[in-house]
Amino acid sequence: MQNLAAYLFEADIDDPNSRLDVLDHLIDSWLEKKGVQGPRTSDGYFVSKTGDGTGHFSRQMVKSSVGSLSQVELMESVDDGAMFTTRMQIATTGRRIVVYATLSATPAESRVAPIRVYPRCPLVIRSIIEKFGDWKFADQSVPLAQAFDATSSKNAKILCDILRSESRRLPVVVVSNDEDEAIWPDLQTKIAEHLVGLADTAFVSAESSWVLTDELEQRDSCYLGAVRLYWPGRRHDGSLAGINWIASKLASLGIDDGGRNRFLAALRREIMSVAALTMVPPVLFREIRTSAEKERLLALEEDARDYELTSIIEENARLSVEVEKVNSINQSLRWKLDHPGYHEVANDQNESASEFTHETIKKKTPTAGSTIYYKKIGSGGGVDTLVQTASCNHKESNWKPAFKGDQAEKGLHKLEGRNNWRSIAHCSACTGGGRWRVNW
Ligand SMILES: [Zn+2]
Repeated sequence: MQNLAAYLFEADIDDPNSRLDVLDHLIDSWLEKKGVQGPRTSDGYFVSKTGDGTGHFSRQMVKSSVGSLSQVELMESVDDGAMFTTRMQIATTGRRIVVYATLSATPAESRVAPIRVYPRCPLVIRSIIEKFGDWKFADQSVPLAQAFDATSSKNAKILCDILRSESRRLPVVVVSNDEDEAIWPDLQTKIAEHLVGLADTAFVSAESSWVLTDELEQRDSCYLGAVRLYWPGRRHDGSLAGINWIASKLASLGIDDGGRNRFLAALRREIMSVAALTMVPPVLFREIRTSAEKERLLALEEDARDYELTSIIEENARLSVEVEKVNSINQSLRWKLDHPGYHEVANDQNESASEFTHETIKKKTPTAGSTIYYKKIGSGGGVDTLVQTASCNHKESNWKPAFKGDQAEKGLHKLEGRNNWRSIAHCSACTGGGRWRVNW
């Protein structure tokens, strides 16, 4: 079995039981949409509307003095015969209600290979998150399916504070929506929908990305149509941990919807696979199960209890072996996750997100007679931060000679370490302060 994704969130509320009712109804309609008839029965088969054939589901409830735990498990076969399992558990105790869901897949035949399944957030999880706005993961609000608009300087500054916050617990994906550079329109909307519950999404404009460059420095900024994933935490060198996909690499996936969907699948897998390893079931679940079992035993007659205890001891011994096995698998998966280069081996080359890790724009060296284009990505301290770019498609009439001694010229001098250019022109039609064309 391969764990593909996990979701974990909770709320502290006055009346967890009435919320539990609402969640039960959301689960009912999710099961019905899947093709289940009689979603409140304890288990059964169904003709799956979304897979390629049959499915099986089970629904259980455990109650004890500690609290209650309900579990729904849905298994569907997918195209190549693999089984795809969605398991949801909801626990309540006192004012606390906890939701935990996992997605996993089992291959149709025995083989050691990554399963090519591109999971999505189950509809029921998205409905539960959107129905109530107070879910938390590790005291942080659970990401909704909406992207944060950081196109104003003020909001871009707020985004920077979030990105470098030590208390951040979840990934953030930032989309540079630079009109002249972005590969797919409105990408942030799709990303926010696909990563609901797991990662926050924000978007910056050409101009507001300058704030990121000024605040976070160029190496941690997101500009010129790039998409950047920021994990919580920092690397050893102090930079923000994550993955940067520059526009040209995004374009290599295809500039149409197909390319966009390939990128979304890769991005989902990147974040979901990490959630599958790091979001573990809360201790509360075990406590409820254990106390329910204890209470059941105490209610039995003595003879029946002895018999039950013997079988429980045997069952425990079997489970301990299982747990050891799972722990060793987890350790090896964690090792793989930390080990650089693992992704290149394990992932599908064409659809891997990781092969683009830490990509930066290649820089040309100015030589006499060469023409190089530049764009501004930051503006701190009276000197523009410039990077080399491609040309734009704007008309020649938009290009005007630039004035001497301004911030861009200082930035150019700083970037290239020389100021012996022959001429500089500026495109007034490009967004984000324009593009510069320099004849060396
Ligand atoms: Zn232009």
